[in-house]
Amino acid sequence: MTGTLLLTFDDRHVAGWEEALPLFEAAGARVTFFVVEADLLDDAEQAGVRRLLAAGHSVGSHGARHRNADEAILELGAAEYLRTEITGSVAALRSLGASASSFAYPNSRRDETTDAVLLEVFDHLRGGSPRTTDLGVARASIVPRDAKVFPGRGIDTGRGGVPQLNDAVALSELLGELAEGDGTLVLYAHEIAPVGRGNHIHPDRLHAVLIEARRLGLRMVGFDDYSPASWS
Ligand SMILES: [Zn+2]
Repeated sequence: MTGTLLLTFDDRHVAGWEEALPLFEAAGARVTFFVVEADLLDDAEQAGVRRLLAAGHSVGSHGARHRNADEAILELGAAEYLRTEITGSVAALRSLGASASSFAYPNSRRDETTDAVLLEVFDHLRGGSPRTTDLGVARASIVPRDAKVFPGRGIDTGRGGVPQLNDAVALSELLGELAEGDGTLVLYAHEIAPVGRGNHIHPDRLHAVLIEARRLGLRMVGFDDYSPASWS
């Protein structure tokens, strides 16, 4: 028995994600990339997404235009939200060979209504949870493995020039607890780069997380491979 760690990366940082492929391969990790604006990807980005898939990783949807699901469903209704924000995104990703069977909420904005609407389309949804060093709070981000909606935990190291909370110790404790049970923890970051204009994780930090997870024997899979029923 061991826990499962799902590493996920959001938005449209395809080139930087590709550069990190050797890190994932060295750690035996498969991960998930949640792509936004899939219908707007240029040729180089499309080729990049195909290479991420060819390397065994999963690609899910992060919405067509990064709209907050809760607000958009209230404003447009579920059908129009799905038509404008989801259908085109899924179609564009599938044309590149992705299953697009999972979805990450833009800005982690979700509620029970959005979950019900989006679980009609996707197998799994990822939201967010407080970035905290309080292990009692952080522990809630480990959920039963048959969950459909996962409270992701952020691991970016910076946002522009501003460092994120250094919660490496808390994450280590969390990973240790994950290894002792059979729950699932979803982590999320954005661009993989030493510096970035927006949210980014330094490759050294990503490497450290991967090494630690591997040492603990955690299962590291993408959402396409996430089928707990088949695990012993
Ligand atoms: Zn995003």
